[in-house]
Amino acid sequence: SEILHIVGGGMAGSEAAWQAASAGVRVIIHEMRPHVGTFAHKTGDLAEMVCSNSFRSDDDEQNAVGLLHWEMRAAGGLLMEMADRHKLPAGGALAVDREAFAAGVTERLRAHPLVEISGEEITELPREGHWIVATGPLTSGALAEAIRAETGTESLAFFDAIAPIVYADTIDMSVAWEQSRYDKGETEAEQKAYINCPMTRDEYEAFIDALLAADKAEFHEGETAGYFDGCLPIEVMAERGRETLRHGPMKPRGLTNAHKPDEKAHAVVQLRRDNALGTLYNIVGFQTKMKYGAQTEVFRMIPGLEQASFARLGGIHRNTFLNSPTLLDGEMRLKSRPNIRFAGQVTGVEGYVESAAMGLLAARLAVAEMRGEALPAVPSTTAMGALVTHITGGADAKTFQPMNVNFGLFPPVDGLKGGRRGRKDRYKAYTDRAKADWQAWLGAAARDAA
Ligand code: FAD
Repeated sequence: SEILHIVGGGMAGSEAAWQAASAGVRVIIHEMRPHVGTFAHKTGDLAEMVCSNSFRSDDDEQNAVGLLHWEMRAAGGLLMEMADRHKLPAGGALAVDREAFAAGVTERLRAHPLVEISGEEITELPREGHWIVATGPLTSGALAEAIRAETGTESLAFFDAIAPIVYADTIDMSVAWEQSRYDKGETEAEQKAYINCPMTRDEYEAFIDALLAADKAEFHEGETAGYFDGCLPIEVMAERGRETLRHGPMKPRGLTNAHKPDEKAHAVVQLRRDNALGTLYNIVGFQTKMKYGAQTEVFRMIPGLEQASFARLGGIHRNTFLNSPTLLDGEMRLKSRPNIRFAGQVTGVEGYVESAAMGLLAARLAVAEMRGEALPAVPSTTAMGALVTHITGGADAKTFQPMNVNFGLFPPVDGLKGGRRGRKDRYKAYTDRAKADWQAWLGAAARDAA
């Protein structure tokens, strides 16, 4: 029978292998560790958690990552089963005993009669057979080179400078206004692709002080030798001089405060629309190594963002990921080599849970294809579907950055109140709808297979 090859036995690869084997397909996992290591992994186990031991919120009614847990459990996911089994007390978060978790995943896959684990580094993109590449943010150099050669130099980022992303409905529009610099853009939509937050001199000076004083994370060893000049962290720019940001990402030129047209802002923070739905905006040029707690504190000093809620915070770390919106089709296949799917963080999702989820989905799509079954499209109303829709099409390819699952990726539910007040009802409506649609999709897939 046909074999599904999976490169990388991390979060995505392990879940993918489990899903395919559970469906009766033979799998070979090609995992280079422990023979070839990465700077972050410490063991040869499958599904090793490289940093925190948290799967984040387990709330499946009010939190998008909790909903993703729910969807994976409903699909018989191995990683969720092991996370639940090796759970540690952590309030609403799902924290796990990382060693027991990885050992549990490894044991289950080793024991499966349809799974073979092969300890080699894959250095080429194979031309034959069915493959899922799930090599993660620390994809080995040789394979990264091969991917780059296939997809074009511009298409593979090795350095990930993430600007924070804000929920649009938490921006105070009585302070901020919509305008592109010098009113550039053909259409009204383009001219309104930006939201601007004005600062007085005093506000700017206080902001710079806070940036300089904020708690910052260190770079991991081997992670970076210097920054690209185009994506310096804002705090590093501030260290270079108090006026640097005012001449860089915070320059006020070409913008007129719609609320106070006669006042010249001393500095302006710009946010750019981040998704087609218009629910998310990123703060332009605001990549940062500030710690998460410090980020929310400092960014809420920006006029108009006092009440901002963040879909994701900024960061900078080594990360290999594809420009999936241009390179992958809706079924996660490399357009130029449809025998290869990609899954996990290398597709431009961010986080253990999101990576595992994309592994789950890629395997189900691969299995259906190997059997000649036609699966219905994954509904974009589910967390799984919202995420895959975002990376394979919804996101703007030009500014594509790794994404956590969040409700901003979901198509709105009609007839519900917007803004802060309606949020609880809205999230419940999103998760109810997602659960029903995911169950229906799983059911349809099962009927197809029968
Ligand atoms: P991985 O889990 O990294 O799995 C990829 C696997 O592929 C690895 O086992 C690797 O050895 C193997 N591999 C690579 N190249 C090859 C090759 N050529 N041939 C064969 N095998 C290969 N996410 C969080 O949710 N919380 C965190 O705290 C967190 N911290 C992070 C810290 C760091 C330093 C990094 C880099 C990332 C972090 N992430 C975190 C992001 C991300 O969620 C994890 O990296 C996650 O493990 C990604 O899952 P994955 O399956 O895509 O990749």
